[in-house]
Amino acid sequence: MTILIRGGTVVSAAGASPMDVVIDGEKVAALVAPGSEVLGSLAESAERVIDATGRYVVPGGVDGHTHMEMPFGGTTASDTFETGSRAAAWGGTTTIVDFIVHRSGEPVLDGIAAWHDKADGNCAIDFGFHQILSGVDDDALKAMDELMREGVTSFKLFMGYPGVFFSDDGQILRTMQAAADSGALVMMHAENGIAIDVLVAQALARGQRAPGYHGTTRPWETEEEATHRAIMLARIAGAPLYIVHMSAKQAVATLARARDEGLNVFGETCPQYLYLSLEEHLFAPGFEGAKYVCSTPLRSRAEGHQDELWNYLRTNDLSVVSTDHCPFCMKEQKELGVDDFSRIPNGIGGVEHRMDLIYQGVVDGRISLARWVELCATTPARMFGLYPQKGAILAGADADVVVYDPAGTTTIGVDTHHMRLDYSAYEGTVVAGHVDTVISRGRVVVDDGAYLGSKSHGRFLRRGLSQYLL
Ligand SMILES: [Zn+2]
Repeated sequence: MTILIRGGTVVSAAGASPMDVVIDGEKVAALVAPGSEVLGSLAESAERVIDATGRYVVPGGVDGHTHMEMPFGGTTASDTFETGSRAAAWGGTTTIVDFIVHRSGEPVLDGIAAWHDKADGNCAIDFGFHQILSGVDDDALKAMDELMREGVTSFKLFMGYPGVFFSDDGQILRTMQAAADSGALVMMHAENGIAIDVLVAQALARGQRAPGYHGTTRPWETEEEATHRAIMLARIAGAPLYIVHMSAKQAVATLARARDEGLNVFGETCPQYLYLSLEEHLFAPGFEGAKYVCSTPLRSRAEGHQDELWNYLRTNDLSVVSTDHCPFCMKEQKELGVDDFSRIPNGIGGVEHRMDLIYQGVVDGRISLARWVELCATTPARMFGLYPQKGAILAGADADVVVYDPAGTTTIGVDTHHMRLDYSAYEGTVVAGHVDTVISRGRVVVDDGAYLGSKSHGRFLRRGLSQYLL
């Protein structure tokens, strides 16, 4: 199918300009200056013309951090690839990179087959995989090479969750050394899980069982310390490092200092850390705070983390916004921890709202329009070896395009969202901007409030190496 998107303003990581976009089959064929002679004939031959007057035309979002159907804490994340990828499409995200789970002692290579079983034929948009490595051993190090050949080029380690996902410093160092050789990207969950487990046990012994104590038992020091340690280990190994879901301003300050020193280290944050807080959300009355239990935890608004993170997004000390989409319903899932915060499954569902929520930073004057696109599409595509196939509207790129209405509004809530989740972390919020049309590899999947996609559309992406390697 040929599609002409006419009259809009195309936004890239470099800026915005009035441009018409021609899509031929699965690819962007051309960007054409409005009013050019070429356009007349294209307009006549296009099978579909989308009027984007007054709209932004932006690359489809790339969400580099999702957990569809992830087993965790005695239950499983409530979105399947089918429901979660459909929700992503509704929100203007056309690529997800999901984490293959591995637990200490299990054969690593069992995971990728299991993840293909879940995702293949069940994903509305294109998808890639990262590999989690837990308790890294020789088997895990060997598996890295095999996975790289399969297009899984990034590996997530945990300094938290002892006994489940945790790797010790020696295991981390060996993984980083292997990554330095192969060009793999090490992603780090940077929290001092050993110290956190002590604080959790002490809080429970004092009778502090409410959801809010999830936050106070994971103080910013545990994130900052782990961030610093991870950077030092990466420095010893000579490996690049990507720190996921950063929420503490002190941890990002440490990362920023390492970047200033020339180290090839990167940070990611998520919408929940920019909008939600320890006081208002995690310590909400009764069991309400369970909705907001995720790790790293939401931070104190009084301490100013949220504003600082926005600033770090502007200065590129934080380079990527992902969602860490890991939804658990209140009923029967979050409820597992009704008497004990440490048993509440960790995670927030947000894959549908990232583009809209980060666009508010443009509205509020915190980031530029180009920076919005860079944080949500272009940099994650480059970070995870998908550019220029993904992350930009360029001739020859996959036709993943969102027509975005800056004059529209979007209401976020459980009655309007498409995630399989019985609450919304942003219930009742009305934000500026609206996803009008979403095109995934040349196929219109969302248009004017209708879903036109299919679960068999999304394809597995064999990713290349990170394009931020030096
Ligand atoms: Zn995660």
